[in-house]
Amino acid sequence: MRSAVCTLTSVICYQQSVSQSVSKKEQLVRKSVSQLVRRISQLEPFVASWFGSLARFIGVRASIRRIDEILGHLSKNAFDRTYTRWVWHGENFEGTRTRTRTSDSGNDVHDVHERPDVNDIPNANEGDRLGDMIRAAQDKFAENPATFEGVLKDSETPLYPGCSKYTRLSSILRLYNVKAGHGLTDQCFDEVLEVFKDMLPDDNVLASGACEAKKILIPMGLPYEKIHACPNDCVLYQNERESLKNCPVCNASRYKEKEGVPAKVLWYFPIVPKFKRLFSNADDAQKLTWHFYGRNKDGLLRHPADSPQWRFIDGKYPEFRKEKRNLRLALSTDGMNPFGSLSSMHSTWPVILVTYNLPPSLCMKRKYMMLTLLIFGPKQPGNDIDVYLAPLIDDLKILWEKGVKVFDAHQNETFNLRAMLFCTIQDFPAYGNLSGYTVKGKTACPICEDRIKGKWLKNSKKIERWLKL
Ligand SMILES: [Zn+2]
Ligand SMILES: [Zn+2]
Repeated sequence: MRSAVCTLTSVICYQQSVSQSVSKKEQLVRKSVSQLVRRISQLEPFVASWFGSLARFIGVRASIRRIDEILGHLSKNAFDRTYTRWVWHGENFEGTRTRTRTSDSGNDVHDVHERPDVNDIPNANEGDRLGDMIRAAQDKFAENPATFEGVLKDSETPLYPGCSKYTRLSSILRLYNVKAGHGLTDQCFDEVLEVFKDMLPDDNVLASGACEAKKILIPMGLPYEKIHACPNDCVLYQNERESLKNCPVCNASRYKEKEGVPAKVLWYFPIVPKFKRLFSNADDAQKLTWHFYGRNKDGLLRHPADSPQWRFIDGKYPEFRKEKRNLRLALSTDGMNPFGSLSSMHSTWPVILVTYNLPPSLCMKRKYMMLTLLIFGPKQPGNDIDVYLAPLIDDLKILWEKGVKVFDAHQNETFNLRAMLFCTIQDFPAYGNLSGYTVKGKTACPICEDRIKGKWLKNSKKIERWLKL
């Protein structure tokens, strides 16, 4: 039935294109379409879905089912010839890929995608597959290929013969997640693993203890820098403060009672090597230009690249815009408690970068979201978060002002990569911390500022209580 529809459609499309110049033929086309629709309408019970499909073809709402309405739209708008894959009627996206053609100059030119709407969503689960992530990190193991082989083997070995759900690596990752989430001690984890190993079939390969589990996971760790901080959030002990033992602002000791154990530590995961790694993968390097080559530019808002802010930046910084691989990043942060959601005794603030060059289906995937900072508690950094952001801001400044030389594996060339902080994502209190704006009291709204009318509630027991009018 579908192939018949496609054939008839192409005939009609052809006839309709001819009919634009010859009005006599136009009448003929209308007559043929009319006959076609009437014949189809007799084909119960397919008629409802058929009219829905036809309505979609000609770009009208599926609820419009009347023949004369369909004919009216058909003559006015013609068929949507890009609707070749029936994604709205049960067909899946599989097989739909970006068309690539070669231009006269021999360079690959990326055409717009064939599907008009949710076209550029390659696979909703892409970017979350463990095997892909490990392969993407292969260059990290360049100096020690044996370690990589070990990790790869663990990621492919089934937990026990016939197990299709868990591998040696994914099982330990899952269990370690539970351990961290519930604050299990190593001793408890040892016993849990022992019991699980006993429950599984004899020839299972589950790690037999916490120590072995750590050995499996260590090569997967991210490269990071540990930077000591003042326990009162005044300064970071880096650069010219590297050798100090007391805080130059509040004089608090850098160390706990025992010399050598820092009072507070910031974890920084450098961003430049991560961007270099992304571009060293040809597939990822191509995806990072999606915002220009792959995006459907029909004026609808689907992605930050469709926003006026994106266009404003394009206009203001033409040099930045010229290089399509330049990155536009979003910074996101919020407090969380890795040791239990209800405890107020600890607050960790992860700072995450999101790359908006990527399509909407990928930019929020784990593989492409970059953990850049981990600010450990016990209390939240509040407005002092800017002290902790310093190493990240330093790198971002280099990326914005000068850029760094990066090899693009897709285009097979080295180029100067620049990046900008496009926006920030946070809740309202964190907005106050990041921007320094007061988000409480009379002028809490950053848009209205002091133009807002409010009334001070005298009898409120809270220190600040304004009723917005
Ligand atoms: Zn201090
Ligand atoms: Zn307002």
